[in-house]
Amino acid sequence: MSNSPAAALEHARKARDEVLSELRDFLSIPSVSSNPQGHADMKRATDWLCDRITRLGFERVEALPTAGHAVVYGEELSAGPSAPTVLLYGHYDVQSAAPLGDWDSDPYRPVVKGDSLYARGSSDNKGQIMACIAAVQAVVKAGPLPVNLKFIIEGEEELGSPNFAGFLEKHRDRLGGDFVLNPDAGMLGPDTPTIFYGLRGMYVCKLRVFGPSRDLHSGAYGGVVHNPIHALSKTIAGLHDDDGRVTLGGFYDRVRELTPEERAEMAALPRDEASYLEQSGVSKLWGEPGFTPVEREGARPAVDVIHILAGSPKSAIPAEANAIVTARLVPDQDPNEVHERLMQHLKDCIPSTVSWEVLSCEGFPASLTDRESPGVRALSKAMADVWGKEPLFCRSGGSIAAVGQLQTILGLDSVLTGFALPDAQMHGPNEKLHLPTWAKGTEALVRFLYHLADAQPPDPVA
Ligand SMILES: [Zn+2]
Repeated sequence: MSNSPAAALEHARKARDEVLSELRDFLSIPSVSSNPQGHADMKRATDWLCDRITRLGFERVEALPTAGHAVVYGEELSAGPSAPTVLLYGHYDVQSAAPLGDWDSDPYRPVVKGDSLYARGSSDNKGQIMACIAAVQAVVKAGPLPVNLKFIIEGEEELGSPNFAGFLEKHRDRLGGDFVLNPDAGMLGPDTPTIFYGLRGMYVCKLRVFGPSRDLHSGAYGGVVHNPIHALSKTIAGLHDDDGRVTLGGFYDRVRELTPEERAEMAALPRDEASYLEQSGVSKLWGEPGFTPVEREGARPAVDVIHILAGSPKSAIPAEANAIVTARLVPDQDPNEVHERLMQHLKDCIPSTVSWEVLSCEGFPASLTDRESPGVRALSKAMADVWGKEPLFCRSGGSIAAVGQLQTILGLDSVLTGFALPDAQMHGPNEKLHLPTWAKGTEALVRFLYHLADAQPPDPVA
């Protein structure tokens, strides 16, 4: 190993309490990106981050404006052009903590109970950002940085990153690198180091079905005009067959089949049917036959209606019924094609007794990262060093818009990891960060930076 990893690990251990107290400061800023009155808090969070990254000794640190909340950017390229360049992605925005009554303590007054730190954003994603900062700080203290680093910390991840693609286009020239480290994916358990190599893509369609020009008395018009709720419900019900297969024509045509090796690997993950039952609280699972729950989550597509808005309790046939139809996509599905197939379904199913329109639709494709890439190999080695066992490779059923955008716009793969556990309550009340896992994660990131430098082919000039 180059430089001095042992010294860096020692620095990381010594700085742990100080870093924890800094994380508590960071968490006390309610940077809720969806709060229209929250601009001052978002600005406080970007100022805090710019200051913290500047104190790492980075040469160029600034909050770059977007059409929404700013992206914090910091670069340190002193390792030189022959060293690898890693983009460290994170997001400083958090989900709303409402309803506050469900929390056992103030979401913006971080408190340690047992082994965990409780606060909104502790796991998603401020704790992960601080683990990266702590690791970089430890390496900087031990000697020159062995790799070039660029922090890219956005403020709109929880909104689906609506302005991130525009940001990447605008600053494309300065965002070059070898790959992105994204610590927003978590791990399967405290003793189960995990590297995610796949994410599902996403498609979202807002739909309106309308009938009469205004709400009508259901006594005068019941049985005379078609109720938009009925037309919409029937259309939604037709999205799946009785077994749970999606019925949209050609929906599965482009789905990349799992290899027998992948299926064996997925079967060995510590996620059996019982764990899905326990974590979901349902009495029986549901979904496409012929695939296990792990396969259905990570490698098969799904269609879900996530919102319906229609009618009232006032004995009237409503003028309209609204729904949001979503799809989680897998390689090699194309969101535009999925949109066309849904439109065909709507044309076929919605009767001429009502009208309909699409209010908005958007989507991005699934992503897979090459497991043999230098970034994945360096992280895998670093995790094995810290946990004493090889990490599990896993496909996540979730979707991170920024990952697809980084791949499409900059051509950069993301290495997905993170030190949030499945019970971290991200987005829910009593969000927490498991501190022993967080400390191990910081050490793994220190080792990762050194392994990455070692993985480089020797300089041909030397
Ligand atoms: Zn989140």
